[in-house]
Amino acid sequence: LFAGPCDFIFASVKASDLPPLGPPEIAFAGRSNVGKSSLLNALTNRKTLARVSHTPGRTQQLNFFALGGQPGAERLRLVDMPGYGYAAVGKEKVASWGVLMRDFLRGRASLARVFVLVDGRRGVKPVDEEMFDLLDQSAMSYQVILTKHDELKVSERAEVLGATTQALSKRPAAFPEIIFTSSHTGEGIPELRGAVSKLLHE
Ligand code: GDP
Repeated sequence: LFAGPCDFIFASVKASDLPPLGPPEIAFAGRSNVGKSSLLNALTNRKTLARVSHTPGRTQQLNFFALGGQPGAERLRLVDMPGYGYAAVGKEKVASWGVLMRDFLRGRASLARVFVLVDGRRGVKPVDEEMFDLLDQSAMSYQVILTKHDELKVSERAEVLGATTQALSKRPAAFPEIIFTSSHTGEGIPELRGAVSKLLHE
């Protein structure tokens, strides 16, 4: 699934303009600078996959990629969601972001799970809670990925993992295992790939 190419398929700026339904989709969300581009590149063995979505605040779009086969014959689609919580983004853009996210999360039958990235150095912040709110309201399955494992001491890792577990415990739905990752050391990448592969077989 992760060995082959991962070609760009489609960019959506509004929920009425999504690619036709196809194979299962997994989406990746997180605040700007959380390490989403780096993680997507590590996950797919690519150096430039996420570049297309990168400039914070500019690309308010959903970017679809094909995994496990050429576009049209892919086994899975990866959806890069626009980063949130970027201070320089105006109110209007935040509102249009919210509409796009909500419409996509509520209406996308093929969306199997959203992976929500949380910065391991910061832990769960109000913007992350807002994303969890949106996912809970949409009854969408989600799994939290902590990033930047390499930047933390052993004690700090335990602390942020505990606090994140506690934040998720307050949520209505049972939550899957929290995966702690580093795009620099590769920590957690096999676990993340395992979680993705498992979704395909459910
Ligand atoms: P995005 O805005 O969420 O796409 O984040 P990027 O992937 O561009 O990363 C934001 C910053 O965090 C960059 O300076 C990266 O080098 C850094 N970063 C990303 N992942 C890691 C990681 O696993 N460990 C460390 N130490 N830094 C990371």
